[in-house]
Amino acid sequence: MPRFRGILDELPAYRPGKAVVAPDGRSFKLSSNESPYDPLPPVVEAVAAAAREIHRYPDPACTRLTEALAERYGVPQEHVALGAGSVTVAQQLLETVGEPGAEVVYAWRSFEAYPLLADLAGVTSVRVPLAEETHDLEAMAAAVTPRTRLVFVCNPNNPTGTVNRTDELVAFLDTVPQDVLVVLDEAYHEYVRDAGVPDGLRLYADRPNVAVLRTFSKAYGLAGLRVGYLIGHPPVAEAVRKTMVPFAVNALAQAAAVASLAAEEQLLERVEAVVKERTRVRDGLLAQGWAVPPTEANFVWLRLGERTMAFAERCAADGVAVRPFAGEGARVSIGSPEANDALLSAAEDFRNG
Ligand SMILES: *Cc1c(COP(=O)(O)O)cnc(C)c1O
Repeated sequence: MPRFRGILDELPAYRPGKAVVAPDGRSFKLSSNESPYDPLPPVVEAVAAAAREIHRYPDPACTRLTEALAERYGVPQEHVALGAGSVTVAQQLLETVGEPGAEVVYAWRSFEAYPLLADLAGVTSVRVPLAEETHDLEAMAAAVTPRTRLVFVCNPNNPTGTVNRTDELVAFLDTVPQDVLVVLDEAYHEYVRDAGVPDGLRLYADRPNVAVLRTFSKAYGLAGLRVGYLIGHPPVAEAVRKTMVPFAVNALAQAAAVASLAAEEQLLERVEAVVKERTRVRDGLLAQGWAVPPTEANFVWLRLGERTMAFAERCAADGVAVRPFAGEGARVSIGSPEANDALLSAAEDFRNG
């Protein structure tokens, strides 16, 4: 029997998810916050063109994509670092700080990958409970110790959809010591409509210990290709590049991401449609009597406690896959109008018992 690291015993084994299909064949995946839209034709064409070159290794420096991102956001190219999905960039970040005794602070519940990646990197997780479903930034600042190397701030928060606004975030950043890296995970940034929510790219500019994490998986609809990025000061971006597995961002992903930036206007129109549906879904749920925190992301959060798994089963019976967190609540992505109608109908049935 090979000897593995002890932490592996605590990690959950991979279990393949089963497809949720209603008896009438209807099936709506509202469990992973994906875009409900098919990829745009120019993006598919860019991937097809790149496919003709797959006997070659991809550009390890992701040159074209780095240039495109730097231009899009008006930042120097040295501030951009890529990864195979922003989850992988988060993993790389934890590896850059992961020494025995190092701590990472994050809110809980927040993105389910944080504890897993921290465990894998050998970094100790310090979880700070949400207050009213929102990051409690004062408590998070108080949780920072001399052992803290990294803080994740997920804004909007997955799975609650709640946000932290500029004043409190700036006050928080002013408190955190300069040698602690603060990572603003903005996977859902494009869905934010609350003008009080800051753009992390404004906050990081004059703060060397702050970096922003973004992804092509959600608003840009490339979840299947795995590409995300960090924007931060050169030492941070360089640390991420050093910890990237060589060639991690494949050529199809690079081509699709470049094409998506070129087609951004159309993609952001789709985001706007999802935002409108978000309002309709939340209003519909509120009208049914649910408590739904205001959400700035492409999902809603229902704190169901002990009824969480029963709710997920009720939705599954109608072909709606949601993301349940047993004993806590369910996160439901905003999908197509048809999918959202199916969710609203299942939710109403559930309330009526
Ligand atoms: C979906 C998500 C990501 C992005 O993951 P990818 O690896 O880029 O697909 C990152 N952070 C949060 C909070 C997310 O919900």
